[in-house]
Amino acid sequence: MTPRVDEVCYRDAYARTAEARVLELADSDGPPLVVLDTTILYPGGGGQPSDRGLILRAADGRRWTVRAARRLGGEIVHELEPPDDGVLPAAGDRVQLDVEWARRYALMRTHTALHALCGVVWRDYGALVTGGNMEPGAGRMDFEFETMSGDLVGEIEAKVNEELRSGRDVRVNVLPRAEAFEIPDLIRTKVNLLPEGIEQIRTIEIVGLDLQADGGTHVANTHEVGGIRVTGYESKGRINKRIRIALADPPA
Ligand SMILES: [Zn+2]
Repeated sequence: MTPRVDEVCYRDAYARTAEARVLELADSDGPPLVVLDTTILYPGGGGQPSDRGLILRAADGRRWTVRAARRLGGEIVHELEPPDDGVLPAAGDRVQLDVEWARRYALMRTHTALHALCGVVWRDYGALVTGGNMEPGAGRMDFEFETMSGDLVGEIEAKVNEELRSGRDVRVNVLPRAEAFEIPDLIRTKVNLLPEGIEQIRTIEIVGLDLQADGGTHVANTHEVGGIRVTGYESKGRINKRIRIALADPPA
C-alpha cells in the first residue's frame, strides 16, 4: 500500500518548505494533531529531537505554530500550539509547511558530527557505540570503550576535526534488509536489533569513515559541520564511557 504521507525529510534533508494538503486532524485529548499529505519535519528518533515549524493556510494566510512532529499509528503528525480562539485547519485545506531551519540545520550538523565521532572511535580504538543523544549544537555518545581516558579524548577531538575538515561526502542509502545484513560495518550499530517487520534499511555513510543504519537528517558534506570540541567525558562503569561534544562554531 502506498503511504498517504510523503515523508520528504528522509530523502531531502535540505527541504525547508513544502506545499501540502491537510488530510485530517487526528484524535487527541491533548494538543491538536494535524496529518498532512507531505511533510518535511523530522518526527524525532535515534537521539535526534523532532523538528518545529509553522503551518500557513493558503486561503487566508492564517498561521499555526508546530511545536513538534511525531509518529502516531505509523504516520507523522504535527502537534500544534493550541490557538487562543480554537480555530484549527480543516481536512482539504491547502497549506505551506515551514521547518524551523536554524534549529534543524544545527541538528543536522550535530548529528553528522556524532557519526564522525563514532567512525573515528571505531576505526582507531575498536569501540562500539551503544547509544547517543543530541540537542542543537551539542550531543553525547556512549561507547563500550574500556581504555578511554582523559589523555585520549584530546586525541579523539583532533582526529574527528581532521576528518570533518577533509570534506567527506555524506550519503543516504536505502537498501533491502537482507543486503544490509551482509555489510559487516552495519553489525556494530546493531542492525540485527531492528524489528522483523522493517524490510528497507536506511543507512548514512560518511564516505570512507562511517556507515550506520540511521533515520536522522544529516548534512551533505562534513565541511558543513565545521569543527567540534570535546566538552566532557564520563565513566558509566568499567567498560561504558560517555563522550560529550559541541559544535565549535555553534549556530547564532
Ligand atoms: Zn545517527
